[in-house]
Amino acid sequence: MDTTEQSRSFHHEKAPGMHDFVIIGSGVSGGRMADELTAGGASCLLLEAGKAFDRKRFPPNEYRASSSLFWGGGIEFSKDARLGFLRGKCLGGTSVVNQADLDRFDDVAWNAWRDQTGIEFFQVSQMAPYYDYLDASVAKGPIPIEHYNRNARLFTQAFDQCGYHWKPLIRSQDDCRHDRGSDCIVCLGGCPRDAKQSTLVQCIPNARARGMEVEIDFEVDHIEDKRDHVLIAGKQRGQEKIVKARRAVLAAGCFGNTRILKRSSDLACKLPALGKNFCCHPQFMTFGVYDEPVDAHKGPLQSVQAHDGKLRSLGVKLENVFAGPIATAMLLPGTGIDHLKLMRQYRYLTSIEYATMDEPLGTIHVTSSGKVIADKPLSAADKEKLQRGYNVTTELHHAAGAKQVLHCDQGFGLHLMGGCPMGQDGSQSVVNPDFEVHDHPNVLAADSSIFPRAPGLNPSWTIMALTVRASRHLLGKPDITPSSKEVVTS
Ligand SMILES: Cc1cc2nc3c(=O)[nH]c(=O)nc-3n(C[C@H](O)[C@H](O)[C@H](O)COP(=O)(O)OP(=O)(O)OC[C@H]3O[C@@H](n4cnc5c(N)ncnc54)[C@H](O)[C@@H]3O)c2cc1C
Repeated sequence: MDTTEQSRSFHHEKAPGMHDFVIIGSGVSGGRMADELTAGGASCLLLEAGKAFDRKRFPPNEYRASSSLFWGGGIEFSKDARLGFLRGKCLGGTSVVNQADLDRFDDVAWNAWRDQTGIEFFQVSQMAPYYDYLDASVAKGPIPIEHYNRNARLFTQAFDQCGYHWKPLIRSQDDCRHDRGSDCIVCLGGCPRDAKQSTLVQCIPNARARGMEVEIDFEVDHIEDKRDHVLIAGKQRGQEKIVKARRAVLAAGCFGNTRILKRSSDLACKLPALGKNFCCHPQFMTFGVYDEPVDAHKGPLQSVQAHDGKLRSLGVKLENVFAGPIATAMLLPGTGIDHLKLMRQYRYLTSIEYATMDEPLGTIHVTSSGKVIADKPLSAADKEKLQRGYNVTTELHHAAGAKQVLHCDQGFGLHLMGGCPMGQDGSQSVVNPDFEVHDHPNVLAADSSIFPRAPGLNPSWTIMALTVRASRHLLGKPDITPSSKEVVTS
């Protein structure tokens, strides 16, 4: 992209009804994009399909949280129903309901992306300044060891005993008030303390203070690229609406962006890779049953994760986690009295989740009525990795002293990625290395949809890093390089 030209065209007289940018989706990417673009002086309109909540008005229980804050009323399923998918639908998107764990991608992840796409900035050294920039602006940190709950302590004990390495998770959180007895499992339905640094808390308020308009309950259906502007069409509370912008930023996530582009016929017809490269880190919960109460639902929800080269090379990702009683009831095996007996042991359970770096990749289809269907059958390679996850977690639970180990056979995809993969070759990708949809420089994306393949690590921190990079292109600012120290500290 010619940044000089971009910068010139950016400083213009604002035409009535015309925004510099319409950002579609307010989650990890959309919220961050709004903050960065408005800080650069751009006029933005943010469109979000979900409703707006805040810390005082998050749904009061697990069931309501599920039905009010997620697409599909809680869970959507893959074509063969083998995987359930979760994605947020509210102002702040999935950043409101996620576990807020942050990983920097390592060489394994970046090198695989670079090998696949030939994109040079897909490397640790090139992306490090973007993570550094975020380090300086986002509150985050580990859970202090004195606040680990028993679930986390048993996890670390098991890892030490079996000779695997672990490390504290870095969570995007401010003051969770664990010293005052906070039970953070509620934050999966929205943090009542605003400690979780969702875009609802850390980005959207900044952008609003700079004049950004926000429309909620506005589901974008399709866009039309008129070359000197973009029309964005959708429905708000049943009413057809069209808004206009110089450029449109697609930040509706993997399913959302793919659906919008598939329904934008003029764009879709020249994007053969649209819907391809879908991946989701299929994950399974495992439970250990103990004689003594563990109370894994108390205190910090998560504190530690695997940090082990051997597990990484096996394509297995392990985290210490737990779930609320409704989710646990859905996950535990059995029915009737057998299931009831297990549920009575809720306080006696630990949990470890294992996820895999999935391949081959799946495909996202959109039916003529607009229904998204993600086709991601578990391949033999996926199953082999899942078996490794199963074996390792079984070993860990036993090492920690569990009297029984329970495996949930329903897999979930929480990290939905791809559908609009980034690449240089228009036959294999949808978005170019300047974050523009091929041949449509006024339509951009930097969110989870542009991932070319599964990284095997938590994706949010990298979605934010890519979004910052994209926002600088849009504002006509130079890339941040390892020597741009002034940017990191600004
Ligand atoms: C329960 C759970 C736990 C997770 N935990 C972690 C974690 O600990 N660490 C991590 O890194 N990742 C985690 N993730 C994944 C992470 O949150 C996502 O990868 C990330 O939010 C994706 O960012 P995004 O901007 O692409 O999309 P989202 O954050 O999903 O935002 C997309 C937004 O677009 C809106 N939208 C969609 N379609 C339209 C439309 N047509 N019109 C208008 N708006 C639309 C959606 O409602 C949503 O608000 C978790 C996910 C879940 C579900």
